[in-house]
Amino acid sequence: MKHGQCPKCEQNLEPFSSEFFMFPFSFFCNQCKVKLQLSSWAPLLLFFFGYIGLMALVIFYVPNANVFGLGLIFSLSGFFVVYYLLSGYILNKGNLTYFKGS
Ligand SMILES: [Zn+2]
Repeated sequence: MKHGQCPKCEQNLEPFSSEFFMFPFSFFCNQCKVKLQLSSWAPLLLFFFGYIGLMALVIFYVPNANVFGLGLIFSLSGFFVVYYLLSGYILNKGNLTYFKGS
């Protein structure tokens, strides 16, 4: 399964590696250590707000979804699962550029 590809070394990126601790502002390829950034935040923001909207609907409409904060725990852990599944799209080679800022 692909989780994004480095534009320099073409190796697969690992979205939960320590090189991603500054994500999404800047991050490093876990293979060749080149500093990268997203050229477009649109896929990430789309996923982010889409997911929050979906979870708000679930917590609002599913009875007892938020008992003992379970809804919150569920949506937070689900967030990382969905992010991992979609990372191949968000970290697509065409959506990554070399870091230009400082
Ligand atoms: Zn690389």
